[in-house]
Amino acid sequence: MVESGDVREIIIIGSGPAGYTAGLYAARAMLEPLMFAGYMSGGQLMLTSDIENFPGYPKGIGGPEMMMELREQAERFGLEVQDKNVDSVDLSSRPFAVTVEGETFHANAVIVSTGAESIWLGAEGEEAQKGRGISTCATCDGAFFREEEVIVVGGGDSAMEEATFLTRFASKVTLIHRRDVFRASQVMYDRAAAHPKIEIKTFRQVSRWLSDDKGLSGAVLVDPRDGSEEEIACTGAFIAIGHKPITAFLGGQIETDDEGYILHREHTMTSVPGVFAAGDVVDTRYRQAITAAGMGCQAAIDAERWLEAQHD
Ligand SMILES: Cc1cc2nc3c(=O)[nH]c(=O)nc-3n(C[C@H](O)[C@H](O)[C@H](O)COP(=O)(O)OP(=O)(O)OC[C@H]3O[C@@H](n4cnc5c(N)ncnc54)[C@H](O)[C@@H]3O)c2cc1C
Repeated sequence: MVESGDVREIIIIGSGPAGYTAGLYAARAMLEPLMFAGYMSGGQLMLTSDIENFPGYPKGIGGPEMMMELREQAERFGLEVQDKNVDSVDLSSRPFAVTVEGETFHANAVIVSTGAESIWLGAEGEEAQKGRGISTCATCDGAFFREEEVIVVGGGDSAMEEATFLTRFASKVTLIHRRDVFRASQVMYDRAAAHPKIEIKTFRQVSRWLSDDKGLSGAVLVDPRDGSEEEIACTGAFIAIGHKPITAFLGGQIETDDEGYILHREHTMTSVPGVFAAGDVVDTRYRQAITAAGMGCQAAIDAERWLEAQHD
């Protein structure tokens, strides 16, 4: 194991909107932050072509383009970014240790902004249509499907919420669920089931996505009880079967909820004093770029104030 250099004031783990905003604020506060950008530098927005709901871009902006601009802005003030993945951390004593590809770095404070991954179905043809018709975020992408037919896959509250939300744009929403028992609360289910634009199909799973030269064109659905198949036409599909926060590398050293989302103790500080968390890695509710960025700002300010109090 290689020990690396001096103790930094702040290490930021993750380079989505939360991480870069934390980096911008920490850099402007002269804390000389070091960021490990991770396996997907730029985060989830690297997967999307159009962002229409981030303030300041009246004509919309491509995801990768926006993330490059956020990075450039933070680097201008001195954020140091290494495009490497953090393997593990030792938060048992200060300064904290962060191990990256066999090298250990130390910092007085750490901001965790490693985001969350949407759980995808993994059906045949899915990879090619991600971001081109198949999405995991109706709030983000629903408006691209005005007067089109879409499907929603899932049986929980998120699926009901996404289906109901999509009726604002789509001409028809078909909700597909593999069983006839729903995890969704009765009130959410009833609202979706009663909507004239929503049709609910139970005992159906997507076995294959269909596409033409314009993008997604439909799906082959299979009935898990007898294997019979049917085709459904759709130009948009929203998979709402859950998210998984990226916290395994923390080795259980920070308090999380049952699903692994980091819990805040005081403002954005976690159960370990000096360790802060921001963005989708703590957020089970909003999961938006602007909310992640806002929390990144909060985490950097909280870290700055906490560090100042330690040095008094
Ligand atoms: C297809 C799609 C479209 C979307 N469209 C929109 C939209 O239009 N508008 C909107 O507001 N939101 C949209 N969202 C949601 C938005 O992308 C997220 O809410 C936002 O990116 C969360 O930011 P974050 O900084 O918390 O995490 P993320 O963007 O998830 O970034 C996490 C970062 O952590 C890094 N990381 C993970 N593990 C490690 C590790 N061990 N070491 C180092 N780094 C690590 C990753 O490399 C990544 O850089 C969309 C999401 C998806 C998937």
